[in-house]
Amino acid sequence: MKVLLTGGAGYIGSHTYVALKEHGHEIVILDNFSNANRLVLDRLAQLFQEKVEHVEADIRDRSTLDDVFEAHKPDAVIHFAGAKAVGESATDPLKYYSNNVSGSQTLLEAMDAAEIRNIVFSSSATVYGVPQALPLTEDHPLSSTNTYGATKLIVEDMLRALHGADPRWSVAILRYFNPVGAHPSGEIGEDPGGIPNNLMPYITQVAVGRLAQLKVYGDDYDTSDGTGVRDYIHVSDLAQGHVAALKLMNTGTCTPINLGTGTGYSVLDMIKTFERVNEVSVPYSIAERRPGDVAANWADAQRAKELLGWQAQLGIEAMCADGWRWQSRNPKGYDQTN
Ligand code: NAD
Ligand code: UDP
Repeated sequence: MKVLLTGGAGYIGSHTYVALKEHGHEIVILDNFSNANRLVLDRLAQLFQEKVEHVEADIRDRSTLDDVFEAHKPDAVIHFAGAKAVGESATDPLKYYSNNVSGSQTLLEAMDAAEIRNIVFSSSATVYGVPQALPLTEDHPLSSTNTYGATKLIVEDMLRALHGADPRWSVAILRYFNPVGAHPSGEIGEDPGGIPNNLMPYITQVAVGRLAQLKVYGDDYDTSDGTGVRDYIHVSDLAQGHVAALKLMNTGTCTPINLGTGTGYSVLDMIKTFERVNEVSVPYSIAERRPGDVAANWADAQRAKELLGWQAQLGIEAMCADGWRWQSRNPKGYDQTN
């Protein structure tokens, strides 16, 4: 297929580019580089010895979208573009409504006009709100606990309504659990600007000496060791999940699908495994709980297996080893002059 990746220069988008290329798909990246480094394009070009087809544009720019659809005529869109920091969504909510909600609406309008009605959407396990039961199945009630999550839920609703109104649309709503790690080449990986919000990039930046110490947010949760439990998934597995989701294109269905491993690990599990596998030390201290965090969540990953024939292959050792290979080879991320 020919696939347009909005936000394709970002963390998950760049890994999905690799997975799609390996499966022989044709790809165009559309990204405004608001949260990505242009050097990622050089790394992707090196990996495949081939120029990366890309457009620097914003998904809210309707006329550019029209031109891109006319010029490239993609069969499907995988829609990663958006802002994703929970904390920032509290202090700058309009950025989230504009980028995530309005941006998605503009994209869908342009797709409809171009008669491209196949979309894979990056949603998140955050749409389950506070888990009422574990593991989380796709039928768990939906709610939001922060503005970022609210915008994901609104876009999901928009997609369901669109499909309800016009069943020519094929929609795969992928609810990611916690993507971590990097491509095993060490050439691409997660490169957050500023201080990372998420656990794994924080661990790798402590290990490489960019940050002094990790704060473990709470050790008094009702979990095996008291620290928060999450379903970490290797970003390469997640990328393969997108390749598999293309099966649902041109089926006239609209389906939410969890992409997780089905297994939860605690913060201390992650730190200890990272230290053991990579033979590095990750100094940490126990801090207060982070407001808004849930004690534990992990996926029921059955639906992805049944509908897509996909399941995660890589365990936390590979997540830790590959995350470290990327960070240790690129201590400052893509731009070593930072
Ligand atoms: P990322 O920030 O690395 O990638 C997003 C990309 O979109 C960036 O390259 C950014 O420059 C681009 N972008 C943002 N706004 C844009 C706009 N208006 N127009 C064009 N490009 C724009 O994030 P990621 O971790 O790769 O996440 C990809 C998607 O997956 C996001 O929608 C995110 O909400 C979702 N998601 C991520 C996680 C996670 O933990 N990383 C978990 C669940 C869901
Ligand atoms: N966490 C932590 N210290 C950090 C960042 C995260 O202890 O610096 C914990 C957090 O409380 C949660 C887990 O690590 O239990 C995963 O957090 P992350 O922000 O990566 O993902 P999310 O909370 O969105 O699932």
